[in-house]
Amino acid sequence: MKLRSIFAVIACSLPLTALAEVGSGAKKFAQLGHLLDTPTEVRLASGAPGPDYWQQRADYKIDVTIDDTRQHLTGRETITYYNQSPHSLKYIWLQVDQNRFRPDSDDMLTKTAPNFEKYPYSSMAGLLYRMEFQGGVNNFKITDAEGNALPFTENKTMVRIDLPQPLKAGEQFVFNVAWDHAIVDATKFARGGYEFFEKNGNYIYEIAQWFPRVAAYTDYEGWNNKQFLGNGEFTLELGDYEVAITVPADHIVAATGVLQNAEDVLSRKQLKRYEEAQSADELMFIVTPEEAAQREQGSTSVESTWVFKAENVRDFAFASSRKFIWDAQSTPSGDKNVMAMSFYPNEAEPLWSQYSTASIVHTMEVYSRYTFEYPYPVSISVNGPVGGMEYPMITFNAPRPYDDGTYWDVSQKDHRESWSRSKYGLISVIIHEVGHNYFPMIVNSDERQWTWMDEGMNTFLQYIAEQEWEENYPSRRGPPENMTEYMTSGNVVPIMTNSESILQFGNNAYGKPATALNILRESIMGRELFDYAFAEFANRWKFKRPTPADFFRSMEDASAVDLDWFWRGWFYGTDYVDVAISDITQFTVDSRDPEVEKAWQKAKDDELEPTLSDQRNENLERLVDKYPALNDFYNDYDDYTVTPWDYAQYEKTLKALSDKEKALLAMDKHFYTVTFDNLGGLVTPLPLRISYADGATEEMQIPAEIWRRNAEQVTKLFVSEREITAIEIDPYRSTADADVYNNSWPRKVKTSRFRLHMDSSKPNHMRRDEKTNWEKKDK
Ligand SMILES: [Zn+2]
Repeated sequence: MKLRSIFAVIACSLPLTALAEVGSGAKKFAQLGHLLDTPTEVRLASGAPGPDYWQQRADYKIDVTIDDTRQHLTGRETITYYNQSPHSLKYIWLQVDQNRFRPDSDDMLTKTAPNFEKYPYSSMAGLLYRMEFQGGVNNFKITDAEGNALPFTENKTMVRIDLPQPLKAGEQFVFNVAWDHAIVDATKFARGGYEFFEKNGNYIYEIAQWFPRVAAYTDYEGWNNKQFLGNGEFTLELGDYEVAITVPADHIVAATGVLQNAEDVLSRKQLKRYEEAQSADELMFIVTPEEAAQREQGSTSVESTWVFKAENVRDFAFASSRKFIWDAQSTPSGDKNVMAMSFYPNEAEPLWSQYSTASIVHTMEVYSRYTFEYPYPVSISVNGPVGGMEYPMITFNAPRPYDDGTYWDVSQKDHRESWSRSKYGLISVIIHEVGHNYFPMIVNSDERQWTWMDEGMNTFLQYIAEQEWEENYPSRRGPPENMTEYMTSGNVVPIMTNSESILQFGNNAYGKPATALNILRESIMGRELFDYAFAEFANRWKFKRPTPADFFRSMEDASAVDLDWFWRGWFYGTDYVDVAISDITQFTVDSRDPEVEKAWQKAKDDELEPTLSDQRNENLERLVDKYPALNDFYNDYDDYTVTPWDYAQYEKTLKALSDKEKALLAMDKHFYTVTFDNLGGLVTPLPLRISYADGATEEMQIPAEIWRRNAEQVTKLFVSEREITAIEIDPYRSTADADVYNNSWPRKVKTSRFRLHMDSSKPNHMRRDEKTNWEKKDK
């Protein structure tokens, strides 16, 4: 039984929540311990790379030709593989991602049936196309440096090359690979491929995952040769690239790296502009919209070869088309200049020349502030068929206006329905994809295992960059309240789930981790501690390979904030945040003075209204009225009369007290015990706003550690000279609390609106044909 007041003993039933599991807090606050990899001298317990840290390296020299008449790619590459591990390697694994496009690939065979209710035309077209497309590599040849064939074994998207003798620690191995493959139609949901334009019969190529790449060999996983099933992206080694790209001579090519032979492939006019653009601090065209429009009406059988070099990148992608407009602007990054460039067809105008390169520049400026200076010489955004995809120095971004050039549609009830054609859709996707240069292109996390490590961190910084673009920028991910519907949906797996098994991909790997980091920054660590630790993590691991443990540990190591409970709840669990104020009791001190206390008790009892029976019995003739002889002392006695015995007790009490103790009896303070119920299960800090009877308000934040003993229900004491009139949890919606209506005491009235509809849509049950029509319409 709980006392509502130390004077009035009012029986109350045991609240259900009092059954809270004893020690539930210990589980939620247990250190992650064995959930994290055991620290080594390669990866330290602090979350930093250790003195024994190592990673492999692979350099590539590639010749590639795009056949524009039959959408086919032919390549030859020389790979120099550096074994920088302390181990001897018997074989090298290659990733051949194009094999995913074979009709009998694991990706295709393990696809489960789509939901045919409300199945879009585009999905049906894509489904049939993918079933028929003859993708995958052909004419695969692997030779050593001298041209001798090397034995290899193909296992779906992975190929094992058996080395003539083991490659010892510190040694390098040079080998050649030749192959060709059909280029996929990227409008049918691929990360790279072609887009066909009926008018003038032109193509835009966005070429990615196109060359066999060495699989990563790491200290934490050995060979990372988990098959490519489509969702889990890439785990790659860093290295230097020299790539010669042969395309029709009237194409413009954009690629990872710096163009080496501009004088061979550009017209004199373009070359002059290209050189001018190297130091242009305002946007300028290298190929103008008019020139692109002119060019796309022709074609040629002559070829030209564009040569690019890129240092310290983990991948290489490129785009090619005769439709490309090319704009550029030079922007400082540290003591060097970066060329921000965009390539897009006239169909992308007027949106692209206004927003694309500006978005690149903005992204680099914001992200660099939170991590490290952008280290590469170029940063590119290309418009084509791929929705949004990132590669080192180059990104593919699909948003494009409607055919009439407009890029908003007020006839859509929700601007998100036209999001992909809006300027915000474009700016957001460019910020996101350019942002991926930081995570995972430079902070080289393992995408095939942990999608959140690059998508979540990147989406978190994307939110910051969006909010720096303009006030009230319509960010979709980042604000805590946008995540509560997902977190309470039930169809949820932990963030720490392998990429291929994630449910609700975007919410799990992008939205929730971005929200978690935002809450960590704003509500738990504060901006100063968070920003320092986050930048420390990024700098520790740039051009290296962090695991989740390295991130979790670095954030604590650099901040002195114990966050194991946070990682456990947000990253390893599926609970959501919902805290309710379930009970408040006000206490004041019993003065022991019978005059004061009996008066207090009388006032309290007088507050009680007479019961219905008492009211109705008021004029009842009682027995003692009829027979007054039945009255005695008790009939006249007032319970609230202060008696000599009361005085004697009071004096006795006072006598036993010191002056300090007497002062405590006399104090005029209010003690409030406030009970919080954790209904969502996720432990969370409690930002509070307290309102007082004099109209003042006070804000404070209780750290999440309040839940460390009992994670289901806690009672907190508040002491005040003033009377509290209201308490509210999370007034600024900063904790992703799923039900805000139980956050207030006293409770607020829920407000909502409903809409009345015309009666005419009711079926007439007398007429069967009408009923049938109605049923159809309402489906
Ligand atoms: Zn992404």
